[in-house]
Amino acid sequence: MKNTKTKKQQGLSLQEVKKKRLEFGLNELVATKKSSWMNMLLSQFTDLLVVILIGAGVVSFALGEHVDAFVILGIVLLNGGIGFFQEFRTEKTLEALKKMVHPEIRVLREGKEQLIETKFLVPGDLVILGEGDKVPADGKILEAHSLKIEESALTGESLPVEKKFEHEVFMGTSVAKGSGLFVVEKTGMLTKFGEIAKLTTETQKTKSPLQIELARIGVFVSKITLVICIILFGVGVWRGDGFLESLLYSVSVAIAAVPEGLPTTITIALALGATVLARKKAIIKKLSSVETLGAVTTICSDKTGTLTKNEMTVREIYLADKSILTVTGVGYDPHVGRINFVGGRDKHEPNKVLEKKILEICLRCNEAKLDKVNDKYSIFGDPTEGALLTLVGKSEFSDKDFEGEQKDIFPFDSDRKMMSVLVKSRENLEVLVKGSPDQVLEKCTYWFDGVKKHKLTDKKLESIRAHYTQMAENALRVLGFAYRTVKSNEDVNTEEIAENELVFVGLVGMIDPPRAEVKEAVDECRDAGIRVVVITGDFGITAKAIAQELGIVRNNKVRVLTGVEVDEMSDKTLTYLLQERDQALIFARSLPAQKMRVVELLQAQGEIVAMTGDGVNDAPALKKANIGIAMGITGTEVSKEAATMILMNDSFASIVRAVEEGRRIYANLRKFVWFIFSCNIAELFVIFAAILFVLPLPLTAILILCVDLGTDILPAIALGVDNAEKGLMKQKPRNIEEKIMNKAFVIDFLITGAVIGGSVLLAFLMTLHFDGWNFGDVVEGEFYHAITVAFTTLVFVQLVNAFSSRSFTKSVFQQSFFNNQFLLVSVLVSVLLVLCIAYIPFLNDVLKTTNLTVQDWGLVAIGSFLPLFFIEIKKYLQRTKNR
Ligand code: ATP
Repeated sequence: MKNTKTKKQQGLSLQEVKKKRLEFGLNELVATKKSSWMNMLLSQFTDLLVVILIGAGVVSFALGEHVDAFVILGIVLLNGGIGFFQEFRTEKTLEALKKMVHPEIRVLREGKEQLIETKFLVPGDLVILGEGDKVPADGKILEAHSLKIEESALTGESLPVEKKFEHEVFMGTSVAKGSGLFVVEKTGMLTKFGEIAKLTTETQKTKSPLQIELARIGVFVSKITLVICIILFGVGVWRGDGFLESLLYSVSVAIAAVPEGLPTTITIALALGATVLARKKAIIKKLSSVETLGAVTTICSDKTGTLTKNEMTVREIYLADKSILTVTGVGYDPHVGRINFVGGRDKHEPNKVLEKKILEICLRCNEAKLDKVNDKYSIFGDPTEGALLTLVGKSEFSDKDFEGEQKDIFPFDSDRKMMSVLVKSRENLEVLVKGSPDQVLEKCTYWFDGVKKHKLTDKKLESIRAHYTQMAENALRVLGFAYRTVKSNEDVNTEEIAENELVFVGLVGMIDPPRAEVKEAVDECRDAGIRVVVITGDFGITAKAIAQELGIVRNNKVRVLTGVEVDEMSDKTLTYLLQERDQALIFARSLPAQKMRVVELLQAQGEIVAMTGDGVNDAPALKKANIGIAMGITGTEVSKEAATMILMNDSFASIVRAVEEGRRIYANLRKFVWFIFSCNIAELFVIFAAILFVLPLPLTAILILCVDLGTDILPAIALGVDNAEKGLMKQKPRNIEEKIMNKAFVIDFLITGAVIGGSVLLAFLMTLHFDGWNFGDVVEGEFYHAITVAFTTLVFVQLVNAFSSRSFTKSVFQQSFFNNQFLLVSVLVSVLLVLCIAYIPFLNDVLKTTNLTVQDWGLVAIGSFLPLFFIEIKKYLQRTKNR
């Protein structure tokens, strides 16, 4: 208590704030080293293959092959441009996401408490700190109530440091416990933290497992390609194609074979996915988490606020003399509803003294504020406490009837599960306590009947417990109330001393209705093979009642474990219970440390765990979980920092939406990886078969580059943003250990690629044949007509392939063709490209192509659709196998 300086603080006036903002600017850390667009642009041209290609262009130019040189450079520029545009867009998306998470803090200005974004803080502001807040600037403590600050970000010291009057606090640290008030002295880059570090609430571009896997495959493919290209180059020179021509050819083939754009395309797909998620009220902080989300097997959810609305309304009061009062009305309006005396076993008259005492505790042991804005009442602070203020408003007593003044406070924390205040009135000094009933009763030695206090016997304790169990069974959230008279401040130096030998006054039960949208989301989880485990600080019985209402518990198959039981349980037993998927699991009365254990045990069984948390003590479990989820509305800043995902609306349903989105994106990643590899294989196949069978080459280097650019990238992006296939949430979660490039996948795209390549080769050979060329004829000469047909077939067969890549099992004829606009655009662009290349005389000259006849188009059509037969049969076999 001695470290408290209690004087009514006013804070800055708005005028002063304005003036200081002009002087000091925003309280922000200027982002360090942002990749500038210039760097981003240049990085598009530093890929080894692109550099070689530019080199080949320059040499061509020097040798007088100006047209070739310009075409190559044009293609390089266009390719770089698309890459740059994609990366730029990703960067912008991430920036937009970052802006959606803005830390807020409570301040006192003009004598009023308000919530502002921390960036608007100025020196001189009075900041109110509560458990789990991030200290938003540097300053000096004016008031401290059991205040402990975690300063590891600055000092590396992991144990929280106690802070008292006039101690300094620093930006970047956080409140581990207690509450306080401090005056801001330094903001933004002038703070200690500003000097040394940068905050990380922004979305990070971490690499996802798939990206890492593909990067590895990329290196592998590059090595093979290098060997192939050296061979190609050698064969070219040997055949007398000339040094430059052979170099250009082998580099083009290398570009066709190496999926160098794949990691970027995946980043974009993930970033776009993150934007969709943001629209669905889930902000992703780590891009790679989008991929992990799709593999979630268990969701561990809080109850209050996530499964329920966190809109509390008091329904019942139970007084220590056994009288019962009911309360009517909904919402926070104190003028709607009233307190009615129902009676009690021993009482026929309401016990006004006792009622007043419990209401006094409701009012004084309370940090919330009831506010009337536009005729509507809303609360500022904890909804549980807000409901208690509304309750007092509904009673016949007014503020004036409670004369005591709050002198000190031991704030609520979820380990202690209670809170207390020291109140001084004219006659005496009292500690008023409220909290979880079992915790409060444990500290009670007496009970109060309105006149005098009695010893709390086991029998009395039993009857109180029986009553709150009954309240909890009705899904009520129950709080216990008690007080104690003390002689001097010395008796209450710490909460351990203060919260002792208490006198029990009564219980208050409030409803917190389940969220309407959660039931359906729970059903979806069941279909999707995802288990929902409830972990709550509340009573098991209350939690069970809510879980039953929401369908988490069905047919009464449930196991409720309290925190104490969990602590006593061996890892083996707990693991066994966690494996029992048929039975719902509720961890009640649990402490934050137990969440950590549950996460670890689940992960040890190979589960992918999504875990919600809002308090400061939840941070370690949030970090440990595969997907740590913080609450945007009620969550502390510390939990938001530890989490990988923040729910803007706190709702469980948003988690399920996010998982669905994660599944969709992963499915799309698979589709386009498959698409790109099957296309690359097709191109390689065409060239290799031609070399192997001593045929003319079916594609020129420049046309290979055109295919790569025009028809590979666009459909791939389109597949990346494809809609979800029906039934995505009816499948079991995928095994995260399983690599995308497993044996079946690789064999599949190798064969499909070969079939596609074979079809292109067929179109090429048929055209050659019609043009009078026969097998065994000389390979030298100009085969531009057949090359144009082969090129066109390749473009179209890949478009057809893009459509069939949308599902690995469903027939292409079963899908809706018009619900992916990107795909339609890529069809349009490809068709235009082909028409230009075939019919514009200038391009005919430059690219050495010819016009196409009706017969050619017929061949193109056959060549494009032939592989579809094979793919459709393959899918049919797959479907029958799955059945
Ligand atoms: P969940 O963990 O699902 O969010 P919860 O809100 O009940 O549920 P805690 O915040 O840890 O979890 O609260 C634990 C218990 O402490 C509550 O059940 C209630 O009895 C008591 N409690 C909650 N808020 C307060 C408060 N402001 N003052 C005193 N006691 C409280």
